[in-house]
Amino acid sequence: MIKAKKSLSQNFLIDKNICKKIIKQTHIKNKNILEIGPGYGFMTDIILENNPNKIILIEKDSNLVNILKKKYKNKNKVEVIEEDILKFNLKKYKDLILISNLPYNISTKIILYLFNFNLNIREMILMLQKEVALKFDYNLANMNKYKFMTKTVSNFERCFDVSRKVFIPKPKITSTVVKFKFINKKVDFDKANNFSKLIFKNIRKKIHNNLKIKLENNLLNKRISQLSIEDLFEIYDLF
Ligand code: SAH
Repeated sequence: MIKAKKSLSQNFLIDKNICKKIIKQTHIKNKNILEIGPGYGFMTDIILENNPNKIILIEKDSNLVNILKKKYKNKNKVEVIEEDILKFNLKKYKDLILISNLPYNISTKIILYLFNFNLNIREMILMLQKEVALKFDYNLANMNKYKFMTKTVSNFERCFDVSRKVFIPKPKITSTVVKFKFINKKVDFDKANNFSKLIFKNIRKKIHNNLKIKLENNLLNKRISQLSIEDLFEIYDLF
């Protein structure tokens, strides 16, 4: 029987074909996979069919952890860890592939947290609320700190939408599967955070007023709403 806790944003994906379509967005074979919030392990089973080297499961719900430990006790590829992903340190890993149907109440927070491990993760395939997926898509107009940070650490792609009907219980909204392919370079997060705090501070002001830089560059006379992601990074280079 499937029981769901609202406080942990549990919406279990019950459609095998959708699970398969998600897994197809990456290469599993011989890779180390980390799955956030595996629930009852529906997606985990499909990942296992694709012959990973190892799967690490991070699940916060201790009831589910017990179920998962029993379910996979004979599978030495599977490691079940009872932990809050927002407290889990990924620094000791390299080249991880992250896969998750995220807990929607904290999906933005989790993504921003994971950006700190851009050197440890190769790519992540995540299911999230469509509205949140759009917020991170730097190819769409109206720049914000999420789009800026996404482009700082990764190449981002929206893969496909998923109907609310394939979950138990059904969420209120449509979901989207997205892919972040991390850029393997050291990021100056202090500089990036500082820049984003200033430039998005007052979206009605012209850029040079927000950033307080006086240089001859036309972009600085514009407002945030007029910038593309390329413009934003041209300004970042001046900062
Ligand atoms: N992947 C499963 C479940 C998705 S629902 C499926 O598709 O069926 C979200 C899952 O994340 C639940 O299992 C929930 O218990 C877990 N979860 C919620 N908050 C979490 C956190 N902070 N850290 C790790 N797991 C969490």
